[in-house]
Amino acid sequence: RVAVEGRKIVKNFQNGGTDTRVLKGVSLKIDQGEFVSIMGPSGSGKSTLLYILGGLDVPTGGQVLHNGVDISRLRDEQMSRMRRQKIGFVFQFYNLIPNLDVEENVLLPLLLDGQKAGNCRQRLDRILEIVGLSHRRRHKPRELSGGQQQRVAIARALIGNPEILFADEPTGNLDSRTGEEIMNLLGEINRDQGQTILMVTHSPEAAGRSSRVITVRDGVIV
Ligand code: ADP
Ligand code: ADP
Repeated sequence: RVAVEGRKIVKNFQNGGTDTRVLKGVSLKIDQGEFVSIMGPSGSGKSTLLYILGGLDVPTGGQVLHNGVDISRLRDEQMSRMRRQKIGFVFQFYNLIPNLDVEENVLLPLLLDGQKAGNCRQRLDRILEIVGLSHRRRHKPRELSGGQQQRVAIARALIGNPEILFADEPTGNLDSRTGEEIMNLLGEINRDQGQTILMVTHSPEAAGRSSRVITVRDGVIV
């Protein structure tokens, strides 16, 4: 089953009055259960592609389908609901909320979705166990190492049980040993939970953990 499909995706950006075409008709399919890496030179359009596939940005042309449904046809409200429930995003710089502790950061997407914290306890405990942070649940982000902060971000991305996890350079801000630990974790989540993952990375070591590598160069898949 195809989890995410891009059809002839085009993206233009306005830069100082000139229109630059960053994606030049990209088509791809990600099957459920796959762990796919997107690689390629800096500025080739990898992050733009990831954001468009994840519904964080809109294409100039082409279509994005999630489980066969064209997401550009969703209304704003359906779209934000889908982002909270069906999609998990992990970034290079964790994007945690400094005043909230680990539990609160991880639960946030569910609370924003109107769920009661009490009803999410089991799921929270399970996710914290998977990412290895059960003993840090009351810590604030600044009290954690970079690797631990990224694990909180991964837990937050997974708490809603998303169809697909998107990761933009998840090891880009980490030393190589910690980056390897994060890749081990993503590999386990893919293997043990069957979690579909689409990841942008510069790191050949990180890409080596995935089941397929897509290379983007100058706005096209090569
Ligand atoms: P990569 O992830 O491969 O490094 P990006 O997708 O981040 O590449 O960027 C591709 C190109 O699009 C770059 O030239 C970048 O400067 C440009 N770009 C990205 N986002 C924007 C934006 N919001 N406005 C204008 N140009 C952008
Ligand atoms: P781990 O190997 O478990 O990721 P580290 O070796 O990076 O952890 O850090 C050891 C402990 O020190 C961690 O459990 C963390 O809670 C704490 N710690 C790490 N960085 C900081 C920091 N900047 N401020 C406070 N505590 C920290």
